[in-house]
Amino acid sequence: MFCKECGKQIPDDSVFCPECGGKVAEVPAFATAQPAAAAAPASAHAATGGAAFGQGMNLGIILGSLIIPLIGIVMGAINLRDPSPAKRKAAKIWLWVGIGAGAFWIMVNLAGACAGGFDY
Ligand SMILES: [Zn+2]
Repeated sequence: MFCKECGKQIPDDSVFCPECGGKVAEVPAFATAQPAAAAAPASAHAATGGAAFGQGMNLGIILGSLIIPLIGIVMGAINLRDPSPAKRKAAKIWLWVGIGAGAFWIMVNLAGACAGGFDY
């Protein structure tokens, strides 16, 4: 067949002209529709639900995940000095909770910075 754009002879099964790059055949529907359909919910979520619904939730996550590590580390620091082994054991748990929550907070912030919102 011949290219609609430049008129050069090209293979019959061509979708795009190898000479000028022009579209010479209809791209099968599934090839174009699927990526568009897959991309739409994500962008719609980011534009509407993600922004509006995320506001209050973000504040809660930020406050909660800032306070939890602080409490964990403070409780851990206090209990670590306690002579009782049970308290020192609890202190380690508090410290891990604090570190874990702190790491979660950092991850949430990194994910939020990358995605431009929280994906819940
Ligand atoms: Zn062409």
